[in-house]
Amino acid sequence: MRRCAVLPLSVLLLLAILFSPGSGGLADDELTLTENIFGARETLSCWVDVPGRGEVRYYAQNDGLWIDLIYETPSSTKKRPFGDGGCNPTALAMAVRMLVDEKELPVIASDAGRPFSLCNCSLNKNACGYGHARYYLTSPRDYDRFLPLVFADYACGNNIRGVRSRSEAKGTVGGYMKYVCAAYGLDLTTVSEQKAGLDAVTAEDTAVIAYCASGGAFTTVGHYVLIAWADETNVYFLDPLCREKYRTNNSSHVHIIQPGLVYMSRSELRYAGISGYIIITKTNAAP
Ligand SMILES: [Zn+2]
Repeated sequence: MRRCAVLPLSVLLLLAILFSPGSGGLADDELTLTENIFGARETLSCWVDVPGRGEVRYYAQNDGLWIDLIYETPSSTKKRPFGDGGCNPTALAMAVRMLVDEKELPVIASDAGRPFSLCNCSLNKNACGYGHARYYLTSPRDYDRFLPLVFADYACGNNIRGVRSRSEAKGTVGGYMKYVCAAYGLDLTTVSEQKAGLDAVTAEDTAVIAYCASGGAFTTVGHYVLIAWADETNVYFLDPLCREKYRTNNSSHVHIIQPGLVYMSRSELRYAGISGYIIITKTNAAP
């Protein structure tokens, strides 16, 4: 099993860093400091060899690059970190990345209300009260690297669709997902039947996200995971919450291949508590 590789510091040099329109007074060394903070962190992002499927892009909500970044809407009174509540946009990022080439990833920018950016403390400008220097994502490489944060910002309301799916009460709900998919020429449907959900996993040009209810093997509060493959015996998951050990009810039914990549047997899948399958399919329509 190929292990996740840590991106070299030099990758940081590929980040296009621009001054925000309102931060013209920031000094160069302040931007350099921001860059160094991100550069000093290891990342869990990698390509994972999923049995039966092959290489799939993996992202973790609790990646050291962004685990502490505040993930909130403009009106929120909370300061919740992405590591605690970012499973939905992280799972969506893995699903989109299954179906969309890196060079096409910036297409989502045409849907944005303002350019996607991040700073030392927040994945969008909403929660940063410090005037931090901000990275502005411009290249396909930037979008590949920070795709979970792009979709999270979209869910916070940074879009021209008037969609806001990040709530103070419920975390991230799924309403924004179909708009993100549409921007990439992807269709999204939801089913609750296990057979329909699992059949879709092996269909061509298709990615499937499962919503797992609280009390299942994956979560005590509700959780989104990517179903990366399903064979006759097992179902393979890429879990946005990368962990060495599962401390949940029924956790004995989750088998860890490597942190982030796990499988359950089909016969024990009921212990996952899956209540919905979000099926994302590439259409012939140009994005
Ligand atoms: Zn900040």
